[in-house]
Amino acid sequence: MNSKKQVHFTSCPLCGSNHLASDKLYTDRYVSGEKFTLVRCSDCGFLFTQDFPDQTVIHKYYESKDYISHSDTHKGIVNHVYHQVRRFMINRKAGILRKALKNNQLAIHSPRLLDIGTGTGYFSYSMKQKGWDVTATEANETARTFALNHFNFKILPVKALDEFRPHSFEVITLWHVLEHIQDLHQTVDKLHELLVDHGVLVLALPNHSSKDALHYKDAWAAYDAPRHLWHFNPDTLDKLANRHGFEVVKKYAMPFDTYYVSMLTEKELHHTMPFVRGMFHGLVSHIKSLFSGVNSSSSVIYVLNKKTTTNKEKQHEQR
Ligand SMILES: [Zn+2]
Repeated sequence: MNSKKQVHFTSCPLCGSNHLASDKLYTDRYVSGEKFTLVRCSDCGFLFTQDFPDQTVIHKYYESKDYISHSDTHKGIVNHVYHQVRRFMINRKAGILRKALKNNQLAIHSPRLLDIGTGTGYFSYSMKQKGWDVTATEANETARTFALNHFNFKILPVKALDEFRPHSFEVITLWHVLEHIQDLHQTVDKLHELLVDHGVLVLALPNHSSKDALHYKDAWAAYDAPRHLWHFNPDTLDKLANRHGFEVVKKYAMPFDTYYVSMLTEKELHHTMPFVRGMFHGLVSHIKSLFSGVNSSSSVIYVLNKKTTTNKEKQHEQR
């Protein structure tokens, strides 16, 4: 790659091992056309994007009119399906959060929810309407303005995270967000601090051990480098959780993502009839994952509990 400012790892960002090997070559067909190497740690199995553009330049790789979670376009059949599914998913997510709180004896009247990377705010605003005490953050200014204009809902910029006091939230959610965050460990530590005891952290992440990922190999659209920096599967997410004083207590499959990601991959590969092909491969992957369980789902929702006995947070360096 050229002289752009990049973040390069000589050791594994998750376990610190220097046994690293190139594993995938992903082409960013979405925005830049550039190629990115995904590197795997031979010790802990963690997969991550090597040499990703740093904070000063990464924004250029988000500048596509197709970036749905921000632009909210309704054009095209893939986007149409996405918007239909979103409505269904909001209710499912709400159910998952209610259940998690109940299990932890935190089912209070108006739980405090922090939704990080809320995009245009559909989920967070819906939760507010359901009576939750909602705070939402989003890095993209256009998305924040959209929420203000459409719902009269005020979304905070990311730096607001520094102003919250410890133990301020019963639940924190990051729906397909953690994989975008450059200062991974610093952020997860912060989330730990912001949660009350027995608080719940809910993460939705693409799963590179899924049936559709195995089918599409290097072209799997959910690698989405360089926007996705960290590529988790249930095993490595478990390791991340343990490192930061969390415990994974429940996992849910996200079967719609199988279809969505398959269609997106077909579209990016410029195959004919991407919708039909995507639906077909999505169905095949979905059926396969029904037999092999949540760990082979295209995306996984992880419910993490904050462990109560937090032996005074040891200093986690950023890498
Ligand atoms: Zn490792």
